Amino acid sequence: MSNAIDIKGLHKTYRAQGNAPAKKALKGIDLAIPAGSIFGLLGPNGAGKSTLINILAGLVNKTDGKVVIWGFDQDVNPRQSRAAIGVMPQELNMDPFFTPRASLEVQAGLYGVPKSERWTDELLELVGLTDQANAYARNLSGGMRRRLLLAKALVHRPQILVLDEPTAGVDITLREMLWQNVRRLNRAGMTIILTTHYLEEAEQMCDEIAIINHGELVVRQGTRDLLNRADRKTLLIDAGGRVDLPPLPADARPDWRPDGRLAISYPPSRIRADQVLDALRNAGVPILDVASEQPDLEDVFVEMTRT
Ligand code: ADP
Ligand code: MG
Repeated sequence: MSNAIDIKGLHKTYRAQGNAPAKKALKGIDLAIPAGSIFGLLGPNGAGKSTLINILAGLVNKTDGKVVIWGFDQDVNPRQSRAAIGVMPQELNMDPFFTPRASLEVQAGLYGVPKSERWTDELLELVGLTDQANAYARNLSGGMRRRLLLAKALVHRPQILVLDEPTAGVDITLREMLWQNVRRLNRAGMTIILTTHYLEEAEQMCDEIAIINHGELVVRQGTRDLLNRADRKTLLIDAGGRVDLPPLPADARPDWRPDGRLAISYPPSRIRADQVLDALRNAGVPILDVASEQPDLEDVFVEMTRT
């Protein structure tokens, strides 16, 4: 299996309702997600991420297009395509009268997992809910409920795990625990697809990233290549204080940082660092120290979703 997910020409239009007009949430998305990867689906609020994920999960009906999950066309083999994927939804919807153990057993029943193949205790252990196994869901903290949702997504041992904003409003301990689990599952061969608002997180976790905006795919690239795409680097120079600046190479932009350092940003595809430094040195600007800054995913994201 080379692609875990293969999406072609995916459209979703939510019908007009009352005063709300029809909404084109997805406008022809083509996207292949390689098996075995940790794949980030990013985009501003309202971009269509949850719509896309809910279509994958079979929770929202697409308007048009083709969705193939683990080799199974959703329209031809709905059961197999659904069995290949587990989704941890963005919303915390759960039955307050079930205990975590019961909740996992019910979910396993829904997916037709035979009793002998269930791994309820291991799952509870995996998400750190062994001690709460028999507590009512209404007595669980928000963090515990999220962990239960992760366990529920895994009951049928899917090949693909999808996490929609898993760490939104979640404390740092739970976040780290979640990412540890995700990495462990990925090492064991599971394909992971996640959306997150925390770009630093996506930068650290994801092999590849797709950015969507207004229901369209803006870019899809390996994380490293995507970061290089910004074509901006910054030299931070300690000139011993503010000095008059000579003319710099075209496209190099100087700025003084609050700490007194001179920040010169430039496009590395067109200018080399030594051209910037030579211009300063030749004008007698002292260079007491130099550091450099790379763009991060935040910069790239802002640039790509400006409209
Ligand atoms: P994201 O997850 O990227 O924030 P969503 O997929 O939730 O984006 O939403 C995409 C667009 O579709 C938004 O404009 C949103 O208001 C709209 N939308 C989402 N769900 C519905 C729905 N059930 N009915 C009508 N419009 C919806
Ligand atoms: Mg969403």
